[in-house]
Amino acid sequence: MDCPKCGAATIAFEIPGELREYAPGDEPTVALCRRCLTLHPAPETEASTDPDFTIVSDAFPRSEDEGAIAMVLAVGLLDSFALYRREIEALIEQVEQAGTDPLLLLDRLADDPETEPAVDLRRRRQHLEGTLD
Ligand SMILES: [Zn+2]
Repeated sequence: MDCPKCGAATIAFEIPGELREYAPGDEPTVALCRRCLTLHPAPETEASTDPDFTIVSDAFPRSEDEGAIAMVLAVGLLDSFALYRREIEALIEQVEQAGTDPLLLLDRLADDPETEPAVDLRRRRQHLEGTLD
């Protein structure tokens, strides 16, 4: 499917069971826009169980073992930081436990010329940094 927000291509993936409670909506499959990095429910889409988010940006880790899906969900929720604060914090914690630095990743994502994030990643990063202490 194409992004309902900007029309760019998306990458659809299945949310692993242990992360579903942090995902918005009830759909087990969502699609990440490759350009504006927003997340959308993707009920009718063929979803990958091993998505490669490095095609969206090199900033993302390749492997789910490195917290890739948790990070993608967190990025998708950053748009509604106040609403999903608890979920974002839980996801970010998982990313850190997986050995990936979420703040560094957001910096790299903000610097990636291939993407045009719908949210101001640098501002969200500051919010996030404030909540992690
Ligand atoms: Zn988009």
